[in-house]
Amino acid sequence: MTRKRSRWYVMSISREAAIIALCVGSVLLLSQFQPSARALETVWGNLSHVAPEISAVHLVANASAPLSGETVYAQLQEVAKRYNAPPIDARVDSVWKLIPGLNGVRLNIPETAKRIATGGSQAPLVFEQIPPAITGRDFVAQPIYRGNPQKRQMALMVNVAWGTEYVPKILNIFARLHVRATFFLDGSWAAKSGAMVKMIAAAGMELGNHAYTHPQMSTLTRVQMVSQIERTNAAILRTTGVKADLFAPPSGDFNNMVVRVAAGLGMKTILWTIDTIDWRKPSPSLIVSRVAAKRTPGALVLMHPTATTVAALPELIGILQRDGYSLVTVSQLLSPVRPVPATIKDALHS
Ligand SMILES: [Zn+2]
Repeated sequence: MTRKRSRWYVMSISREAAIIALCVGSVLLLSQFQPSARALETVWGNLSHVAPEISAVHLVANASAPLSGETVYAQLQEVAKRYNAPPIDARVDSVWKLIPGLNGVRLNIPETAKRIATGGSQAPLVFEQIPPAITGRDFVAQPIYRGNPQKRQMALMVNVAWGTEYVPKILNIFARLHVRATFFLDGSWAAKSGAMVKMIAAAGMELGNHAYTHPQMSTLTRVQMVSQIERTNAAILRTTGVKADLFAPPSGDFNNMVVRVAAGLGMKTILWTIDTIDWRKPSPSLIVSRVAAKRTPGALVLMHPTATTVAALPELIGILQRDGYSLVTVSQLLSPVRPVPATIKDALHS
């Protein structure tokens, strides 16, 4: 009985010591990022909740993650230093028109430490996303040529009005190389190619609207514009249940009314940053070098289902991915969500 009690006494002393050390350490550490009195109050509030969970004993006892509390805090401090960033407002550029905004991110160190204390070093980092004051919703009448350059992502856009035979080959390449992309469908093509449209959706690709009969949109009346967009949306919805909200005008031809009509139907008008010009049948290596030379964070890359594109894609995707680009859908590219690492290991060893 006595022995047990004295052991408990020693343990509670060491727990208390660890808790005090952690409290002092993390306040010092967090105060570097958030020097305001209010933030410090929050830290204390969080710690009173977190501290009982964290002890050196617990962390060392976790065989999969032999980290001391001190090491964890030092590492989290480093993660915060590398990844914390302020929000960026959406804006209208004279050349690129609407540049979408980007959330700020801040690592929640006490909450992350709490998760690591129970889950080990593989526990997820807890980042808070902080929305910008001005977002794309403030500029619905602007077309979009590119995403925010602060995200190391690019989006491949495949406009489909013909070339059906190449679509499965492109989907295979995307599946093999873990690429998600956006397919902008011509409505009349979609209406007669239901199985293919379903296959594109089932492959996890995003579906967008490329008008119904490939018209020069700027030459149409308002009523005709609405009809082109609505009939295509209906064909996509009927086949897949997906409500498209991205509109890529055929040949990139648009005027202000096109963008406003699309916005009125809840759709963003999407142009491109880099054109493969693959319909002119260049060599695959020319497509690869054309895109690779212009690669830039936030770029939208226009392509079509052609033999040349199928031949160029594996090498092109390899170049972009080895250079650290994630290839994502247009919606992901334009979203304000800032990508963050999942774990300490991902954050510090990438
Ligand atoms: Zn087209």
